[in-house]
Amino acid sequence: MIVFGSTGSIGVNALKLAALKKLRVSALACGGNIKLLNEQIERFKPEFVCIKEQKDRHLVKHKNVFVGQEGLEKILELSDDTLLLNAIVGFAGLKSTLKAHKLHKKIALANKESLVVAGEFLKGANIIPVDSEHSALSALIQARQNIKKLYICASGGAFFKFKIKNLKSVKLSDALKHPNWSMGAKITIDSATMANKLFEIIEAYHLFATKEIDAFIEPKSLLHALCEFQNGATSAYFSKPDMKLAIAEAIFDTHELEILPPLDFVKLSSLKFHKISLKKYPLFALKNIFLEKPSLGVIINAANEVMVERFLKQKCEFLDISKGVLRALEHFEGVTITELEEVFEYDRKVREYL
Ligand code: NAD
Ligand code: MG
Repeated sequence: MIVFGSTGSIGVNALKLAALKKLRVSALACGGNIKLLNEQIERFKPEFVCIKEQKDRHLVKHKNVFVGQEGLEKILELSDDTLLLNAIVGFAGLKSTLKAHKLHKKIALANKESLVVAGEFLKGANIIPVDSEHSALSALIQARQNIKKLYICASGGAFFKFKIKNLKSVKLSDALKHPNWSMGAKITIDSATMANKLFEIIEAYHLFATKEIDAFIEPKSLLHALCEFQNGATSAYFSKPDMKLAIAEAIFDTHELEILPPLDFVKLSSLKFHKISLKKYPLFALKNIFLEKPSLGVIINAANEVMVERFLKQKCEFLDISKGVLRALEHFEGVTITELEEVFEYDRKVREYL
């Protein structure tokens, strides 16, 4: 397996699984945390390594160090490994997904942003979703017919229990405290704004070719997805909130390995479900416009990345994130994307605009 984003939350979990199953790791790539990268190099002895910036190169303890996007793509060309785990965060992950697709590699895709911004250009790619909800949907859909509608679940994020009026004054440290999942900073903020669930709706649209898809909140994150059938029955996929299960489903060919202990339903006192409040999570109100015109993905994603970065640097307030995204969307709403180059062009334009 080739692991891009090896020092992140998904990357680290994937390497734990690789060690467990003695899966060969031919390449490691990351954007930062060279200390951890060096430990991973020592442990997995990959053939190739790639880092984001030239200035860190002398710190990496490996003979074959590549740099930047060019380096990532070179590794995909040179490695005879047929499986890429793409766990880079954000738009920065897109080119690697496109390249791996071009080379006919199997892609265990954690980088949902690839589908959000360029799903139309990844049709026919051999993608196995790492996102837990989509991993759950894949399992539910397999060999089932007469499916009517798909549902994914949201935790509600860090502010699920907060009153709307109190969101104005929340701190960065509060936003980074996800109640159930331990994830990278960007996706943790995306969970608090519900941008993550909005993206996952589009991700599901591209993966499963349906617009019959919705989401609701299950605050314990034990229920990941549901499949509703024509006959009125619904099946549901439960598991503990630990990404190792979804990663294992994507990178191993067997589904028999026990990754997590099953849930004890008798001990589970209660499960509650809630509608996603559009007042509290205004970005989720974009769901229908987005499903109508999935090519808006590049606009919404770029605006969201800019605003989340600003919030992480404490240069704006929490509620400004959704305001900025809505402002950019208003400005670029008329845009239609038909060529892959336009994805890169509009990603840049939106960033400049904001
Ligand atoms: P993270 O911030 O913990 O890790 C991101 C990794 O990407 C790091 O290793 C970082 O160094 C690397 N990286 C960033 N920019 C890079 C660049 N330009 N070139 C090379 N490497 C670069 O993020 P994460 O939580 O592991 O999430 C990774 C992806 O998986 C995201 O797209 C996220 O939406 C998705 N995802 C994560 C979870 C989760 O539980 N963490 C769940 C579902 C989906
Ligand atoms: Mg998810």
